[in-house]
Amino acid sequence: MVLLRTRSDQGARARAAGRPPAARNLPRSRRHARDTPFRAGREGAPGGHGGRIRTTLAVEQLFEYDGAVSSGPTILHADLDAFYASVEQLLDPSLRGRPIAVGGSARGGVVLAASYEAKAHGVSGGMPGWRAARLCPGLTFVRGSFERYQGLADEVMAVLRDVTPLVQRISIDEAFLDVSGATHLFGPPEQIGRLLRRRVREEVGLPISVGAASTKHLAKIASQVAKPDGLVVVEPGTEREFLDPLPVSLIWGVGPVTEQRLADRGIHTIGDLARSDRKAVERLLGRAVGSTLHGLAHNEDPRRVSTHTRAGSVGAQSAMRRVVPTRELVREVLSHLAERVAGRLRAKGRAGRTVTVRVRFAGMRAVTRAHTLAAPVSATLTITEVAEQLAWQAIGDQEEERPEITLLAVSVSKLTTQVAVQLELELPPPDPWRPGSPTGAARWALDRSMDAARERFGRSAVGYLPATMRRGGVPDEFRELAEHDL
Ligand SMILES: [Mg+2]
Repeated sequence: MVLLRTRSDQGARARAAGRPPAARNLPRSRRHARDTPFRAGREGAPGGHGGRIRTTLAVEQLFEYDGAVSSGPTILHADLDAFYASVEQLLDPSLRGRPIAVGGSARGGVVLAASYEAKAHGVSGGMPGWRAARLCPGLTFVRGSFERYQGLADEVMAVLRDVTPLVQRISIDEAFLDVSGATHLFGPPEQIGRLLRRRVREEVGLPISVGAASTKHLAKIASQVAKPDGLVVVEPGTEREFLDPLPVSLIWGVGPVTEQRLADRGIHTIGDLARSDRKAVERLLGRAVGSTLHGLAHNEDPRRVSTHTRAGSVGAQSAMRRVVPTRELVREVLSHLAERVAGRLRAKGRAGRTVTVRVRFAGMRAVTRAHTLAAPVSATLTITEVAEQLAWQAIGDQEEERPEITLLAVSVSKLTTQVAVQLELELPPPDPWRPGSPTGAARWALDRSMDAARERFGRSAVGYLPATMRRGGVPDEFRELAEHDL
């Protein structure tokens, strides 16, 4: 691929398609990038979409180095831009430069992801297809190439690991890097950011944005500000200047509910939050959340880049509209979640002893119940049954007689390797939850044959009744990609 670099002027930036929703409130931060004493440069993304050079919105904030390599913005957050849509455009060149939606259709269904060209018209993930089609008349709907996403994202991670082994992948398409030990080889963090972006574009063919800063929290915000297809470096000492004008919603962990609560108190920007009284914020959001967010607004974030590759648990969750739970509903949702969790455990040859269920009630209050079994399990039915008991315990412990629920989550932890089940002598009383008991072993064998059938004929070929009957708007393949890796 030929790299074409163009300088974009203000007009081109404003016209550039695909400003992400989070970036819509960012004019002040972009002014900041220009008005700072540092040299501010902009990098035009490589074009070549069907031979057309397109200047995309990208801000690159450069700064002078004093020669020290040990301190500085050495934490990078690298995040692929509109990942699923970008992959579709990579695989089918006729889709490049065009507004596309992955998933859904003009008649219905749910849009799972949108290209920046579609985002420019207000299309976003989670939106009904008919609405997306109305917002963006030229929108092309494509089915997701789920089987390709994981492999391409893994290739990107391999590029990142070429620069440093200190890579912490936090989802399929984003990771933190600690480059403090890599600067003597590759230059300052800003240069490493450029290198990574160029290599991912050239070697994998995907656009990736990078933020560099002194903390994880700030690096993640910087990569969001850099999107699409840009690099933003925040020099130590200028953190507050950079953060203050940004909307609080950019802080990792601030969802719509917290955002609204803060807005009700007149707190809209990160600077507003930083200037608020810590105790008042704690009273508003709860002590733990309030204190953490107040600290983050001051760029207090002690978290290090952690490279523990093996997650301690595997989980899945399902959010729903407020509903009074019935036996059938709880069974159906938990059996579906258990199938996903158990399937992923078995695919990796793992099993776990502790089953945890989280039930969220109307009003965002959540209750967690856990049960630790005598032996590690990976059988779908066993996890379903344990989860069901735990969920009803949590629901039964509520003061209201018929509490409404809005989310169910299942996870399995205390993981060990399990490639085969050791049969036990029959011990009375028969315990189907023990994997070595006759029932336990039969469950495991049944799951293994279902796994094999699915591998050959597809996920919907076979399954447990309640789980196969469930028809959600989002395909399981997509959910799995969004869930944490083992
Ligand atoms: Mg991304």
